[in-house]
This record gives sequence, C-alpha cells and structure tokens, in this order.
Amino acid sequence: MNFQAPITIALSKGRIFRDTLPLLARAGIEPAEDADKTRKLILDTNHPNVKLVLIRATDVPTYVQWGAADFGVTGKDVLMEHGGEGLYEPLDLGIARCQMWVAGFPGADVHARRLRVATKYVRAARDFFGARGQQVETIKLYGSMELAPIVGLADLIVDLVESGNTLKANGLVPLEYMHDISSRLVVNKASWKMKHADCHALVERLREAVEAAD
Ligand code: ATP
Ligand code: MG
Repeated sequence: MNFQAPITIALSKGRIFRDTLPLLARAGIEPAEDADKTRKLILDTNHPNVKLVLIRATDVPTYVQWGAADFGVTGKDVLMEHGGEGLYEPLDLGIARCQMWVAGFPGADVHARRLRVATKYVRAARDFFGARGQQVETIKLYGSMELAPIVGLADLIVDLVESGNTLKANGLVPLEYMHDISSRLVVNKASWKMKHADCHALVERLREAVEAAD
C-alpha cells in the first residue's frame, strides 16, 4: 500500500505503543526506531509519507482534534474525558484492555449522600453518579488515586482496574463496575474528508489486523 498524502499517527509510549506495533506491522507500517528506546518525539516509518508522533496518552485526542496528527491511538478512558470533539472513532483496537471501577474500602457505601470521589476521570465519575441522580464532589488527581481514601482525601476513587492488585495492596476493593476500556483508533474529521482514500485504506488495514488478532 502506498500513501499519497502525508499521514501522522499519534501514540503514547509504553503499553499503547507496544500493543499497537503488531497491528501497524500487519497493516504494513514499521517504525524506524523503538519508541521505548529513543528520545525522539517523531519517528519515521518504512513509508516516506507516514510518521509517528510520541506524546502523553492524555494529549493524543488533543493533537488529533486540532489536526496536528491525522490519527491517534488512545484509551477509551482518555477519550471519555476529552469528549471526542473534532474526531471520529472508527475502530476499537481491542488492546490495553481493562475496566473502569468505583473503588474504596470494603463495604463503603457507594450510594451515600455527599460523597467525595477522587479521580483522574472527573467527567466519567460525574456522568456515572449523575445518571442516577447522585451528586458527588469530584477531586481531580493525576495519579496514585489509591492513596486518596487512605489519607481521607476522598471516600471513593474512580480508577482503571486490570488485576485489582494495586487496589488490594492498598486495602481497597473494586465496588462498582463502570465501563469496559480498550484503546481506540481516532481520526481527525478534516483529515478523514481531505485525505479520505489514504485514511480509509489505513482504517480498513487496521480493521483486518484487529480481526486477525482476535
Ligand atoms: P502516564 O503513565 O504517562 O501518566 P497514562 O497512565 O495515561 O500516562 P499508561 O499507563 O500507558 O499512560 O496508560 C495508557 C492507557 O492504557 C490508559 O489510558 C488506559 O486506556 C490503558 N491502561 C491503563 N492502565 C491499564 C491497565 N492496568 N491495563 C490495561 N490497560 C491500561
Ligand atoms: Mg500510567
């Protein structure tokens, strides 16, 4: 496959890069370097027109929204917080799977009035509790949410859970399931129109790669 237009794909280092790599490879795209071993922020690929940009996971939807990248790979958790303005979400890549849960001390009352919830996912938390008419006070954190109930910063947390080991190590348990999370391919709406042939071809190639991986 040849790309006629320049295509930029935004990825984050770590698990998303590692899990996206085999899918890109099946779609015929191979980066010139290992993201986890370079300090470069822009990686060339075997296609002269295709570049990868390496950015923080939470910045991926922003780059794609503004057209600084045509495509991005990002967790559904990050997308829910961003809101999805300016981008389409054509494909669930089925990678970096985990779940979003309300968590806290065993037996904590998730239906109590006037709860304080600490989380990176303020919007998801407000939507979840708000949908059942429960007003909660949210406290925005950027990491180590498990600490919040222990030090009395919050009654509950909203966090991603894979094995539950981090919660357990801190005396917490998952209390209420919220969402299944996986990484999604997102595309800038204008790129989708203006570079349609290339964008469409890449989505279909990745779709086949995902189906082959299942
Ligand atoms: P940083 O670690 O740089 O602060 P981050 O925590 O957003 O950023 P990662 O830990 O690489 O970055 O997570 C990226 C994405 O991977 C998350 O947005 C989520 O969709 C997914 N993810 C996070 N934790 C897990 C997990 N335990 N298991 C599977 N997927 C996860
Ligand atoms: Mg992390």
